[in-house]
Amino acid sequence: MTNNQVETREFQTEIRQLLDIVINSLYTERDIFLRELISNAADATEKLRYLKLTNNQIQDPDLPLEIYIDTDEKAQTLTISDNGIGMTKEELITNLGTIAHSGSKEFIRRLAEARKQAEDGESAPDLSLIGQFGVGFYSAFMVAKKVTIYTRSYQPGAESWIWTSDGSGSYSLAKGEKETRGTKIVLSLKDDATNYCQAENIKRIIKQYSSFVPYPIKVNGEKANTVEAIWTKNTSEITEQEYTEFYKYIANAFDEPFYKLHFSSDAPLSIKALLFVPGDNYERFGFSRMERGVNLFCKKVLIQEKSEAIVPEWLRFVRGVIDSEELPLNISRETLQDNALVAKLNRVVTGRFLKFLEEQAKDDPEKYRQFWDKFGIFIKEGAATDSTHKDALVKLLRFESNLTGKGELISLQGYVDRMKEGQKAIYYVSGSTRETIESGPYLEIFKDKGIEVLYTYEPIDAYILDSLHEFQGKKIVAAEQDSEDLPEANLPEQTASQEEIPAEELKALTEWFKETLGSKVTEVRASKRLVDSPAVVLSSFGTHSMQRVMQLMNKDFNNVPAEILEINSRHPIIKGINQLRLANDPFAAEAAEQLLENAQIAAGLIVDPRNMVNRLYTILERAVSTK
Ligand code: ADP
Ligand code: MG
Repeated sequence: MTNNQVETREFQTEIRQLLDIVINSLYTERDIFLRELISNAADATEKLRYLKLTNNQIQDPDLPLEIYIDTDEKAQTLTISDNGIGMTKEELITNLGTIAHSGSKEFIRRLAEARKQAEDGESAPDLSLIGQFGVGFYSAFMVAKKVTIYTRSYQPGAESWIWTSDGSGSYSLAKGEKETRGTKIVLSLKDDATNYCQAENIKRIIKQYSSFVPYPIKVNGEKANTVEAIWTKNTSEITEQEYTEFYKYIANAFDEPFYKLHFSSDAPLSIKALLFVPGDNYERFGFSRMERGVNLFCKKVLIQEKSEAIVPEWLRFVRGVIDSEELPLNISRETLQDNALVAKLNRVVTGRFLKFLEEQAKDDPEKYRQFWDKFGIFIKEGAATDSTHKDALVKLLRFESNLTGKGELISLQGYVDRMKEGQKAIYYVSGSTRETIESGPYLEIFKDKGIEVLYTYEPIDAYILDSLHEFQGKKIVAAEQDSEDLPEANLPEQTASQEEIPAEELKALTEWFKETLGSKVTEVRASKRLVDSPAVVLSSFGTHSMQRVMQLMNKDFNNVPAEILEINSRHPIIKGINQLRLANDPFAAEAAEQLLENAQIAAGLIVDPRNMVNRLYTILERAVSTK
């Protein structure tokens, strides 16, 4: 036997970075390392239990599924052992030496950045999220100067291995002598972390963070947790505190849950579900895309962790458990995605969750408002991509409008409820901010007539409304669209003060405009809805925000698709251009070009600045000349 052969390997760069931070920062909440190691032991045990139920060949089939923690005050060590699936040599190398998820890498990059910024040592980077970002194991080095792992895979005949590291860049591997299946992790505690070899302290931490681990945790042989699947109990039997603790356990979280939905149903499917909306949305802070966070159970047995099949992608912010006894235990995890029963569970639970949100919005609008601020982006994503739940999602959307104050929101239903008599459609206008929209030409007619218009600040908002076409039988129309359903100005009142260009001449003027602007416009006509602005462009095929997105992707200024130009025949600029045209002044054409580009800018479209600058010089020259 060559038992004494030791192989040394380097950690992947990102892990080295992470370890450097973990070891060197003055982190106050070191307790979390224990939760991470217990959670890993529980995961490994859960996987073993599943393999056993699905008739796999298993080493030591009779070992109890328990987690053991042993403290040794003399040796200053803390040992965490499980009878889970263990690891082969290859698994040790990939699981504890490399990072697979881009999300984890991103997390580490941000930690490193935060640390650089806090170089003066005042505020330590927020390591408490370590478990949520898939690198919880390394938190062991917050308290240990050396970590030794003895492990043996569940596969019959697998070899036993020993993994050792002091966290400084490399680890070593050697063959071991562990006789039974599972993993034993021994932490040699740092001098300032010897409180972690006191059993009382360990029991306190278990109570705090690991009450819901579904396996007995024995501290020096004595059981320290209560084992239960709380989602199978009645709501009346569970306290708020227990819910919160369970949330913290399953979401690896430290915050309080924002919403909680616990329900069970028998028809059409037997389901027990406990779902949480977390306290905050980390994607919002620029962290990379979240993984899904709902675990799928069958009669308390974990079928799949963070299941991608059980909730739609836009629900990835939700954490929790779905348990259905109708699932076959031996369902293959690989085919869950294609399983009709799982798809049905997904549909039912998602529908129930959306109904819950609707109720919340009704019962406590202020709280729903906070939810919307944090998680609204997911609802929008769903409304844009999920046709199955579109109707329910659309009800949850919120918008500002010209009739709401800044920051005040209205739903589509709220809009419909207060529509004016005779109002033909639901209107919206897009722009990057409230100010841009309100200073633009599209709002004029609505302001004038006191009609409500929804403001859409992001392309996805306009996309959703555009593809929705109608709500409650009312058409949805963009203010910038060429549509029959847009309101018209009350002409008689306005012509009283401002004279219009006579009809014949106006016809000639619009024809001249079209000729002069050529292919840059599809049509030029007199506007029925402009009040203060000289001109406006209307999109003949969609919304400007869609065009903007197309422009940004093309990066070609000249690629502004042709639009309809509407001119305000009561406006002095239009009258002036008409005079120049009648006098055959070539400056008329320059002015017409500039008018179009101004209207395009007001629509938020991108215009080629080079031509414009030269033209503006010509215009300026004329304005300042004192002949
Ligand atoms: P995560 O648990 O989010 O995957 P960790 O850094 O905590 O991230 O653990 C990394 C991986 O190491 C786990 O996914 C698992 O494959 C492996 N691992 C850790 N602890 C154990 C254990 N006690 N038994 C078996 N495998 C383990
Ligand atoms: Mg873990």
